[in-house]
Order: sequence, then structure tokens, then C-alpha cells
Amino acid sequence: MTASFDQLATRILDGGSASEADALAVLHADDAALLDVVAAAGRLRRAHFGSTVKVNYLVNLKSGLCPENCSYCSQAVGSEAPILKYSWLSTDETLRQAGAGLRGGASRVCLVSSGRGPSNRDVEKVAEMTEALKDSYPDVEVCACLGLLKDGQAERLKQAGVDAYNHNINTAASHHDEIVTTHTYDDRVDTIAKARTAGLSPCSGLIAGLGETDEQLVEALFALKELGSDSIPVNFLMPFDGTPFENTWELSPARCVKILAMARFVCPDREVRIAGGREMHLRSLQGLALHVANSIFLGDYLTSEGQDAKTDVELIRDHGFTILGADELPEHQPAEPTATTPSSSPSASSPCGTVSTGCGSACGGCASHDGTAGLAIRQRGAGTDVPANA
Ligand code: SF4
Repeated sequence: MTASFDQLATRILDGGSASEADALAVLHADDAALLDVVAAAGRLRRAHFGSTVKVNYLVNLKSGLCPENCSYCSQAVGSEAPILKYSWLSTDETLRQAGAGLRGGASRVCLVSSGRGPSNRDVEKVAEMTEALKDSYPDVEVCACLGLLKDGQAERLKQAGVDAYNHNINTAASHHDEIVTTHTYDDRVDTIAKARTAGLSPCSGLIAGLGETDEQLVEALFALKELGSDSIPVNFLMPFDGTPFENTWELSPARCVKILAMARFVCPDREVRIAGGREMHLRSLQGLALHVANSIFLGDYLTSEGQDAKTDVELIRDHGFTILGADELPEHQPAEPTATTPSSSPSASSPCGTVSTGCGSACGGCASHDGTAGLAIRQRGAGTDVPANA
């Protein structure tokens, strides 16, 4: 193991790589050494990504009603979380929702649907949406996240112009069966391989806070490196009421920063994205985390509300970063009702319910209600008549 985090960064910049012992040392760093960890990981971040932050925008094409039993997910079978539930958005509505995010500063749109995996008809829907998006926004990157793929589906998505495919491994192989039993870890790896073989950029990440050990977090990161994931969303568990992980709180803001730093040391040149749970778990350390990670989601998540998009952009600016692909900071519409504002939505019985980490990209948290753990069900954007938070 390297003597200091700065020496570790130098070794990696010189062409070396982090060992599993190095990764564990990052996780085990004393909180008093947090700035040393960030400074060292930040050297790698700036070497590969400069001062840019990639901004991604989620469009939940189909929400809830999933037959799979991923225990962290508000959309899973058996989940009683009062999330929005709806079937496929139309292509026009998808364009409208995606356009809001692109105007808000996003360069990548993530088209996500709940479910075990798409039918060929579903794939055709997403192909049509992608073609329409690329016609209207030629520079947009499209990432699809539709679940487990069957033979030929990745090729069809690629042909339609999809750039990337997200399918998270979520956790270590050695922990997988503790969190879901309706599909296997190998099923997930197989879909990532199918995407890569078809020429789609593999996007795969993890969820921290699922009861895994430190060694299993390291195992998951090295697996993602081995799988060749180009972008690595790091989600922090949002323990939705009404799911098996309800009231599970294993993470502190400092630990979340260390997890992101570990991802940077292990995969220095990959996009490390702060995904679901950013606001509720990193809290006031969101800005510090940007010195390690180089990518975030703008606005809301799949089934939960994030902080105002305007605040996301200010976060980037205030820490001296720029938005990748944007010449200037976007103008934002007046803020929508905040995550703490009660809604009349009949599908959300509590404005302070819980949120979901879904198939892939993310599902996030929102403003804290009590300083520790606020979660609000998404009640705007896709599937509602309320303007999106973008
Ligand atoms: S993570 Fe995806 S497959 Fe698993 S329950 Fe949620 S929507 Fe279904």
C-alpha cells in the first residue's frame, strides 16, 4: 500500500494503479484526513476532466409496477412507497421532458423505464424517441436504461442513435443475492456485455449503504473497472418507507466523499457520477464531492425530487467548475414547488415519504426536513402536469 494519498495519486498519474489495499485505505481514512483524500483524488479528477462537470438529466419513461424484487427500489414488486406510477410516455412528452433538462444545462439524457427488461416493442419505442431527440437536439447524448437486454436489442438501440446503456451492478457479486433474488449478478453482467459488444458505452455503477462491507464496496468498484464501465454512477441508498430498507441509515457525508474518492483512485479516467442520494447523504459536502467526482444529475430523480436545478447549477459554479458542453450557465425558470411542499397528487400520500433507487441511473433524495433524512416523492415532471425541475 502507498504511504500517503498524495503519493498514491502520483503513482497513478505516473501510470500505476490503485490496489485493493489502497482502496480500503481510502475508505478507512480518518475524517481528519478527508481533505488530504480529496486533494489527492482531485489531482486525478483534474488530470482527466479538468474543471468540467458533466450534467445528466433523467426522464422516467415508465414508473413503478416492476415485477422484480430489488429491495432498495421503490418501484419493486411489494414496495408500498407512494411513488408515481404510469406507463410509457409518448415520444412528444419524452421530447418535452428531455428538452427541459437540456435547456437546464444537461448534455446527456437518460431514458429510463422500470421493469425486468424491454420487449422488442419497447425497444422500438425508445428507438423512435431517440431519433426524435437527435433530430431536435443533434448534440445530445442519449443513454438508455431499460433493464436486462435480450439478443439483438442493444444493436437496435445503437442503430437508432443511442450512445450509452446503463445497467448498474449495484453491489458486489458476493452481496448481490442479499438484495435481489429475481435475477442474478451474472444476468446484470451479461447485459453490460451485450451493450458493450453492440458499441454502446457501458454505464454501470453501484449503490452504497445496502449493508455491504467495506471489502464488498471495493469488490464492486474493481468489478466495474474490469467490466469497462465508462461512467460509474455512485448512488447512496435512499431508504424509502414501504421498502425493505426503510429506516436504514449507514452513511455519513464524509463516508460518501471517501466512497467517491475510492472510485476515482480505482478508476481515475472514468466518469464518476454522484447519483441518487446526493442531497440527502452528502448534504453540505456536495461541493467537496465535486472535487472528486465529475458528473451529476440535474434536478429530480426517477421517483424522488432532488434539490432545485438552479441550486445544482449554483453548486457547480460556486466551486469553480463549468458545465461540460455549455458555453455559459443556463438560465433557469423560477423554482418549482420545493420537495418539502405538500402536494395534492393522489398517488403521493405523504409529502415526506421516501424515494427510489431504480434500475440504474439514479433516484435521489431531496432537501432535508429534519437535518438528517428528508425524502420526497417526485410529483412534478414526467407523469404529471407540473413543470419539471430543470
Ligand atoms: S431496480 Fe429496476 S428491475 Fe429492480 S425493482 Fe427497480 S425498476 Fe425493477
